[in-house]
Amino acid sequence: MAESTSQRASAPPPATAGALPSGFGAAMARGLRCTCPRCGAPGLFRRWLKPVDRCAACDMDWSLQRADDFPAYIAIIVTGHLLAPIMIALATDAALGPLGLAAVLFPSAIAMMLGLLQPAKGVVIALQWWHGMHGFVRERAGG
Ligand SMILES: [Zn+2]
Repeated sequence: MAESTSQRASAPPPATAGALPSGFGAAMARGLRCTCPRCGAPGLFRRWLKPVDRCAACDMDWSLQRADDFPAYIAIIVTGHLLAPIMIALATDAALGPLGLAAVLFPSAIAMMLGLLQPAKGVVIALQWWHGMHGFVRERAGG
């Protein structure tokens, strides 16, 4: 009987002891910091929103992630909820006209969106890895 030597492309490399996150929150925090959700090593992204193919420290294959537009939706929701009270306060309390409001709010919204996109993508990648989605294999610390 022939024994198959091929492995699934998504089979994770062996994890070093203690490298796996202790729980879901720890994995999400690693993603939020744009570090490897699996081992915590820096450098989850090679460019702004382009994750590395493999982690340099643990060799995890991150090309399996399928974040798509979800990080943008997260960034939009967070930006909207943070800016809405500011927008209301500026419109009611400050003596700013429509152009003044626009001059404050548009740059703020753009800066917040750009600042939130990469951490949101890190969180989505961590979420997918933690739950074993899209070919990731579920791994848990301690077995
Ligand atoms: Zn790693």
